[in-house]
Amino acid sequence: MKKYDLYINGDWIESTAGEKFETKNPATGETLATFPKGTKKDVVKAIDAAERAFPQWKKYPAPKRGDILLKAASIARKKKEEFGEIVTKEMGKILAEGRGDVQEAIDFLEYISGEGRRLFGETTPSELSNKFCMTIRQPIGVVGCITPWNFPAAIPCWKLGAALISGNSVVFKPATLTPLCAAKLVEIFEEAGLPPGVLNFITGSGSVVGREIVENHRVKAVSFTGGVPTGVDIYGKASKSLKPVHLELGGKNPQIIMDDANIDLAIEGVLFGAFGSAGQRCTATSRLVIHKDVYDKATKKLLERTKALRIGDPLDPEVDMGPVASVDQEKKILEYIEIGKKEGAKLLCGGKKLNGKRYDKGFFIEPTIFEAEHGMRITKEEIFGPVLAVIKTSGYADSVRIANDVEYGLSSSIYTKDVSTAFRAIQDLEVGITYVNAPTIGAEVHLPFGGIKNTGNGGREAGTTAIDEFTEMKTVFIDYSGRLQKVQIEK
Ligand code: NAP
Repeated sequence: MKKYDLYINGDWIESTAGEKFETKNPATGETLATFPKGTKKDVVKAIDAAERAFPQWKKYPAPKRGDILLKAASIARKKKEEFGEIVTKEMGKILAEGRGDVQEAIDFLEYISGEGRRLFGETTPSELSNKFCMTIRQPIGVVGCITPWNFPAAIPCWKLGAALISGNSVVFKPATLTPLCAAKLVEIFEEAGLPPGVLNFITGSGSVVGREIVENHRVKAVSFTGGVPTGVDIYGKASKSLKPVHLELGGKNPQIIMDDANIDLAIEGVLFGAFGSAGQRCTATSRLVIHKDVYDKATKKLLERTKALRIGDPLDPEVDMGPVASVDQEKKILEYIEIGKKEGAKLLCGGKKLNGKRYDKGFFIEPTIFEAEHGMRITKEEIFGPVLAVIKTSGYADSVRIANDVEYGLSSSIYTKDVSTAFRAIQDLEVGITYVNAPTIGAEVHLPFGGIKNTGNGGREAGTTAIDEFTEMKTVFIDYSGRLQKVQIEK
């Protein structure tokens, strides 16, 4: 078992307090590594290092910053198998998905490395002669990146890649459940040649390490992905120093099946969307909204397919779904299953913690499906586990009304063969992401990612929008007329 340290100013060093915590495999209980419980002092040290590194890094030509990120992508590609296995062991998603998580990290680093040759501003004519107008992008300074455990390779890369290519220095705090994946990433950036102090890595609790990153006035922006309560807390605390905060929060994502849909395809989609990563994706399908005319046919197929899913150690290639990520996750999900039963939702399958030799040391829950009425808590609140609520609707308008009647607005999907229905849904669904004839999951790194309503505060990660949260826009006027020209007045 390996002992890891904090990474500050290019050195792996112990925490000032010397306390440790263990990261464990949620399928077997095996301890994978130990990490320091970072302190406020450690965060301050990391900010010191990041502040010192910033002026040089800001001046380092952006295409060369891109070269380092491209090298990191190539190292990650070489380590994909090993890294994917670590994702699976530490977070619990099946191996194919663990590799997919790493592939998304690689894809994003490759994509964003090219941004070093863009970082586009704009040029535009002036309303006066002999005057030139443009905008340029500049880095913000020391930025904080706080990440969740469910995509322990991809989400940190989305943030770190965009922050670094823009010329910021970073203090990075990963989720306490997945520090090993984060440490592997930091090692990759180190091997790629990132200068000391540009990336600093502090493990430890959100309430200590995360809080100091958010509250310290020398951290000039925070990028956060996680739950709504944490996001609200961070937003409030950061507002005291008026620092920009980018929030990517939860979801309650609907898949709509219309009466003309290809039912087999739609069921294939919902199985992947609802039970992939044991439902622990912000874009997981947690509501299946089915047109009444195909309801019986679709639910019958769904149940047949769900009951055939194989649950077990996610390293086993025969397994379709692994454990949930922690004992707290298990407790919360089982509580929601009880809530569903008490609310009168009809349990169609699953609903229990799995016991027996293969399962005793892990956090395994059966894939669970409820037939529910819209309005029940299980149809409105994020469960973040393998629990799907199926809701019967009277038609398109009813389906869209139900899909939209939640506080979240991240992802959505509609299965229909009618192009007009598809285009209406693209307009009508109140979300940041809509899929047609595909599940609610499946982000591609060159497109913007994020949501509306309680899913966030308006920003988008990835794609051409990735650098927006990490750059300041400066507006520049160059007057070469040789005289004082007065806008608005000389008309
Ligand atoms: P979380 O409990 O909110 O934690 C997220 C991160 O915030 C962790 O690193 C956590 O540290 C840290 N943190 C906790 N309290 C903090 C505080 N007071 N100040 C600063 N940082 C703090 O969320 P999670 O359980 O890891 O992730 C699940 C949630 O993330 C779900 O709601 C899911 O929908 C959402 N998510 C959203 C997206 C998206 O892009 N929209 C993507 C993935 C996940 P500790 O681990 O030490 O507590």
